[in-house]
Amino acid sequence: MNLKLILESQKKYFKTQATRDIGMLKKLLANLRIEIISREDEIYEALFKDFKKSKFETYFGEIGIVISEIDATIKNISSWSKPKKVRASGLNFPSSDYIYSEPYGSVLIIAPWNYPFQLAIAPMITAIAAGNTVVLKPSENTANTSKLLENIICSIFKPEHVRVIQGGVPETTLMLKERWDYIFFTGSVSVGKIVAKAAAPHLTPVTLELGGKNPCIIDDTISTELTAKRLVWGKFVNAGQTCIAPDYLLVHSSIKKQLISDLKKEIIRAYGENPQKSPDYPRIINTKNLTRLTNMLEDSKVIFGGKSDASDCFLEPTLIEDPYLDSKVMKEEIFGPILPILSYESEADINAIISNYEKPLGFYVFSSNKTFYRKMIETYSFGGGTINDTMIHFGNTNLPFGGVGESGVGAYHGKLGFDTFSHKKGIVVKGNWLDISLRYAPYTNKLEKLKKLFRIIG
Ligand code: NAD
Repeated sequence: MNLKLILESQKKYFKTQATRDIGMLKKLLANLRIEIISREDEIYEALFKDFKKSKFETYFGEIGIVISEIDATIKNISSWSKPKKVRASGLNFPSSDYIYSEPYGSVLIIAPWNYPFQLAIAPMITAIAAGNTVVLKPSENTANTSKLLENIICSIFKPEHVRVIQGGVPETTLMLKERWDYIFFTGSVSVGKIVAKAAAPHLTPVTLELGGKNPCIIDDTISTELTAKRLVWGKFVNAGQTCIAPDYLLVHSSIKKQLISDLKKEIIRAYGENPQKSPDYPRIINTKNLTRLTNMLEDSKVIFGGKSDASDCFLEPTLIEDPYLDSKVMKEEIFGPILPILSYESEADINAIISNYEKPLGFYVFSSNKTFYRKMIETYSFGGGTINDTMIHFGNTNLPFGGVGESGVGAYHGKLGFDTFSHKKGIVVKGNWLDISLRYAPYTNKLEKLKKLFRIIG
């Protein structure tokens, strides 16, 4: 079916107001939940075929998060979509004031490959909860998951409500030429800029969920053993192909040696002496990305790991010590299982390194010193972060998830996702039982009274 016809049918359906029927939306979401659970094994199989993701990581990072998002949406959709009464302004007395949530209309969602199920379905859930229609474009790099996603969506939603369209760059370029009411994009900074440009002629609002170089500062007040455990999990889960994975470590020089030793022990404990044999360690998504990553190792000192196998898209969990800031690994977002370890002596050293980069998506500090970590949170601008762990801020649907500056525009998850996909209309319902004539011309002798009124209402 032709894209223009799909979009036309969705716009027509949207006009019927059917997409705003909360009862129907709850039923659809409940059916989606049932469908996902009944196809759990197929989801595991697809993710395994795409990049050998384990069942555990698939449940944790894909299915579990989607089920939580569905549950939170079903539970709260009625209250999210009700007009909210807000305090009225004394200037308008007498009145009752409300915020109405209105769906934008036709939403285009473009998803990446690294969490190909979750990063496609989670934004779709809140987009439809807000009353929109959706065209969902999954990643071309995860053919098995993207096809399964299409089958699941097809079995629950009418095509005029939610439709999956497969494709790579040419197809997405065509999609971006159409006039959408909202575009939600997750992916790289460079493509994010293409999306923003395509949205500009129609002033289409966008959410851009992008990436960046996420620093992880570790001071000398922590347990290196516990920190190593949490770092190895955060860095090597999904083989480091996570937008909020710590990109590089900034470790206080006094504990660097001990931390490196604990990191090595922890990698072996988690993935064994040969991680290629570990059932828990995924592969790099394709040879293009594997080559990109192995090239990064060329001009730096690898102190652990570093072996790759192109026939299996495999790259070992790899540690790099003291890379130069102009080395390949420090030039761009790594997005793979390579962890550069830099050291610092003073806050000025930290600043000299972090200030080299655009505002990151994630930010991590391991420290028992409240004053220090609070200062770090306040000094640097970043999307979101965690203290004394990595990435777990993602798991709380009460927290906004999104970037700032080059790491993105806008945020979502839970209620914030609903708000992202709805325009907020401010409405004043004016009472007729009293009409204060102060604002009407002629204004003779009224200025002082007006000033007094402003003073009273504050
Ligand atoms: P990508 O930008 O290459 O692709 C993302 C999507 O854009 C895909 O669906 C792809 O088909 C489409 N696309 C690619 N090139 C395009 C073009 N020229 N015109 C139009 N569409 C195009 O990103 P990726 O490789 O899939 O994912 C990796 C990047 O995504 C990393 O930078 C990572 O940090 C970021 N990311 C961010 C988040 C987040 O939530 N902020 C989550 C995951 C990944």
